[in-house]
Amino acid sequence: MKHQAARMKTIPMNSPPDNNRYRNVDGILKVVEDKLCHRCGACIGLCPVSTFGIDRNGYPMQIDDCIECNICVQSCSGLGVDYNTIGERMYGQEYTYGDMMGPVIGACVAHAVDETIRNNAASGGVVTQLFDYLLESGQIKGAIVVVEDPENPAMGKGIVARTREELLQSQQSRYTTSPHLHILNTIHEEEGPFALVALPCQIHSLRKRQMVDPRWTKKIPIIIGLLCHYSLPMSSTEEAAALLAPPGTSLAHTRYRQRDERGWPFNTLEMTFSDGSVWRSPYGPAQTFNVISRISPLGRCLQCLDAAAEFSDISICDPWIRDERGNWKYEEPEGFSGVLIRTKQGAAVVEKAVAAGRLSAKAIPPEEIRSGQQQMMVEKKLRTAFRIDVRRKLKMAVPSYPMEFAPHQRKVIVHEVLFWFMRLIPAFKPIRGFFLQLGFSRVGRYLIDRRMKRRERRAAAGKPAV
Ligand SMILES: Cc1cc2nc3c(=O)[nH]c(=O)nc-3n(C[C@H](O)[C@H](O)[C@H](O)COP(=O)(O)OP(=O)(O)OC[C@H]3O[C@@H](n4cnc5c(N)ncnc54)[C@H](O)[C@@H]3O)c2cc1C
Ligand code: SF4
Ligand code: SF4
Ligand code: SF4
Repeated sequence: MKHQAARMKTIPMNSPPDNNRYRNVDGILKVVEDKLCHRCGACIGLCPVSTFGIDRNGYPMQIDDCIECNICVQSCSGLGVDYNTIGERMYGQEYTYGDMMGPVIGACVAHAVDETIRNNAASGGVVTQLFDYLLESGQIKGAIVVVEDPENPAMGKGIVARTREELLQSQQSRYTTSPHLHILNTIHEEEGPFALVALPCQIHSLRKRQMVDPRWTKKIPIIIGLLCHYSLPMSSTEEAAALLAPPGTSLAHTRYRQRDERGWPFNTLEMTFSDGSVWRSPYGPAQTFNVISRISPLGRCLQCLDAAAEFSDISICDPWIRDERGNWKYEEPEGFSGVLIRTKQGAAVVEKAVAAGRLSAKAIPPEEIRSGQQQMMVEKKLRTAFRIDVRRKLKMAVPSYPMEFAPHQRKVIVHEVLFWFMRLIPAFKPIRGFFLQLGFSRVGRYLIDRRMKRRERRAAAGKPAV
């Protein structure tokens, strides 16, 4: 037990604006212009007078007058995050930026007891099961979740789910632009309490607001975070759909983690086109994601330092954990989720859901979860830090991160150079198309299968994944 997490204190934070160049509505538009916006939607949702709408690409756009309160800029995590300030407020003096996983007081692998929820889920259905339990037992008025945007199946949008049906509709991961904090603008007048599921960057924005405005802490006392490597820009889904669609059709629906009869970990990207035909990725979610992420312009995600949603109450992930023979350790076709419990209120929610017979959970050492996510955590904490320092030196716009980074190791630098060599692909559209088709071709399948087998062998030999 590393930290005994305290309930977030709500003493106003003495936080000067991250940068005086950014203020009010124009400041947010400049964040977008400077390519610092990761499309969390917080500025849209927190603005007291609905100055912002969402543009076609998921960015904030001005639709009304601004009263110059600067709430949007103060909350914007695209502009910067002071990890130590948020960390100390949540976890006390013991918090210091740099730990791969962030503070954790317990871990488990778990699954929804409700079969409908478990079978419809990305992994074990823990997120939805916890929300369903909280809703049904009257502990929350609603859960802020993400659904497919009916006007654009390549994008996600926020809803406040107040029924089980709405929760079921929100299930599975949307690995795409989903600025769902925009929906906060519908609950300004409601006391709540509400629960929220969000990516690390979205949690940063809400935590920034909660530190200076206790009403938002009271309104949203429970935050479930998803571990996040990258979120693919919606343009990637659109481009993939355009290449894979039968001639004359368009994308009608996207399910990023649809199950087939093999179950977890084969629940994967499925696109339905306007003629009713369906394309399904031949790979599981991680490999599918790897193919598409290689050809995606990942933008602001490449400057993100938080893999494990370290400011959530509970962080949830896939149980990418291998046993000593290199096989998945927690593999049941119905799926498990990996769970990192960070705060006392997070622990209480999990314990009560287990006691109520809604969640099945097995305690595991947090290190098991870390072992499965190590590569991604190293990228976020070490390689991204190097990347940001290089950008600073080149006088490019970078988020304000006032923490001290670890010294950059040689092997981190070498890996980063190779990574940027591969990142040239997304700059050229014809090459993107070629790589996408190659990735899903028989040759691609052969290469990816070979890589997976190599990983299994390395895991069986006790070596870290490459
Ligand atoms: C962009 C993204 C990247 C991820 N990267 C990793 C990773 O690298 N490693 C890993 O182990 N796990 C990752 N995850 C988490 C993983 O995919 C599952 O979401 C997690 O295991 C929870 O599954 P579940 O069965 O408990 O949830 P379910 O019961 O299926 O519920 C999923 C919940 O997630 C919400 N959600 C879906 N998409 C988004 C979104 N874009 N933003 C905010 N909330 C959303 C839904 O509204 C729903 O409430 C990622 C998820 C996302 C969305
Ligand atoms: S009214 Fe306040 S929150 Fe809204 S855009 Fe203007 S400064 Fe931002
Ligand atoms: S990062 Fe979030 S808060 Fe900042 S400009 Fe983008 S959508 Fe708005
Ligand atoms: S990688 Fe970071 S910035 Fe990108 S979606 Fe995930 S949490 Fe947000």
